[in-house]
Amino acid sequence: MTIKPLIILPDPVLRQVSTPIETIDADIRRLADDMLETMYDAPGIGLAAIQIGVAKRMLVLDVSKEGDEKTPRVFINPEIVDSSDEFSVYEEGCLSIPDYYAEVERPAMVIVKHLDRDGKEQIVKADGLLATCLQHEIDHLNGVLFIDHISKLKRDMVIRKFTKAAKTRGAKAI
Ligand code: ZN
Repeated sequence: MTIKPLIILPDPVLRQVSTPIETIDADIRRLADDMLETMYDAPGIGLAAIQIGVAKRMLVLDVSKEGDEKTPRVFINPEIVDSSDEFSVYEEGCLSIPDYYAEVERPAMVIVKHLDRDGKEQIVKADGLLATCLQHEIDHLNGVLFIDHISKLKRDMVIRKFTKAAKTRGAKAI
């Protein structure tokens, strides 16, 4: 397993729409392992493949409580098939937008259809943190970031800050 470098705002790669995975082979399983390793190292509770520069529809997460046994989960080609009318608010962060947190409102419950790492179709009914995390990561697969759910004023401020920081690092800014 390899820890991969994370793609950071404002890198335009984060805005790419990821493509479905056709075949779940050894390469895809290795990618899942690398993503989990990278997520645990960060540390974070969720990671989409595009955050390590791979535009494939896969995400990993582990929303187990600190101190509890690790529960790594892999979602391939995840799709929200239903969501509740009730909303809940969580303070979200993102490994691609380090050290920035903001409250985001999302449906409190979602039903997500996906393939597991063995290629078996699964349907998960998620609420609480799992529901928020799944929606955050599925957004990534569509090139959407959690800052797209906050006010434009706040979003512009964050993007300006990260663009400035990228220039200081000598990275290519958009
Ligand atoms: Zn994120």
